Amino acid sequence: MTSPQLSVERLVHTYPDPNGGRVIALNGLTFDLARGETLGIVGASGAGKSTLVRLLLGLEKPQSGSVLIDGADLYQGASSQRRQGRMKLQAVFQDPRSSLNPHLSLKSIVEEPLLSRLKLSRKERSERIDRALAAVGLDPAIRSRKPHALSGGERQRVAIARALITEPEILILDEPVSALDGPIRSQILALLAEIRADLDLTVVLVSHDVRSTRALADRVIVLYAGSCVESGPAEEILTSPIHPYTQALLEAVPQPEIGWTIPKTIVDTEPEKHGCACRSWCPMATPECLTAPELQWVNGEHRIACWEVGTLES
Ligand code: SF4
Repeated sequence: MTSPQLSVERLVHTYPDPNGGRVIALNGLTFDLARGETLGIVGASGAGKSTLVRLLLGLEKPQSGSVLIDGADLYQGASSQRRQGRMKLQAVFQDPRSSLNPHLSLKSIVEEPLLSRLKLSRKERSERIDRALAAVGLDPAIRSRKPHALSGGERQRVAIARALITEPEILILDEPVSALDGPIRSQILALLAEIRADLDLTVVLVSHDVRSTRALADRVIVLYAGSCVESGPAEEILTSPIHPYTQALLEAVPQPEIGWTIPKTIVDTEPEKHGCACRSWCPMATPECLTAPELQWVNGEHRIACWEVGTLES
């Protein structure tokens, strides 16, 4: 087996709780990602998705655990090694209106990561800008425009061009189509799939939108209260979920804007701090669930964290 390009190992991160103590954002999350593979991370608000993105991008340091890119630890070791790892990462965020500086031209917006990361001549930068804009289906002639002169879909194309300009190997997609309307959403998803294949990118797609996850992901991790409750091949999990939380997500009434709605009983119930986090709302809970379940294999690459795995499968 080839070594993974991205390894996340036992990542733990907490925030202060306004009521005292700490809120667990990530609780030992672990996964590997091979070069060229796309992993979907799904879950409701508060599941730990945003914290994971911040940790992967080095915007925060985890309390414990590690993120390795081609074996180089993003948080430990020599600064040159950490910098080299970070150079391989870029991100596209949800809302291009807030992620693009409205006062800058498209040329300056797309060029900015080059200026901060690579030493290139003006001519080389200009050529890269044209290539990046063309790669996302935009006419390089619009480089002097400002973001307000573009449609939502075009703005997201600029955000993707900006992410691609340093030629990253790993792309973090944080709800990349959630702010877009139906037809534009499909176009951007198709563009992302094309770019991923052309550039052999490794992708982490963070989303609560089942349709975009199904369109892009090879594998899926379902997060609840900072822990993986189910993981495996995307198609299998998104069509035949086993864990009660994944089932609740997928059985929920689909909403045009977000793809699914989390049942109110789950949204309104605080995850349990001890034992299985789901036990306050889970209809299958037994006294055994006072102890937190470990992830266990169901079949092939499919794993779930639930004591009732035998009952759920049958
Ligand atoms: S471990 Fe228990 S509470 Fe948790 S999902 Fe399984 S049955 Fe429900």
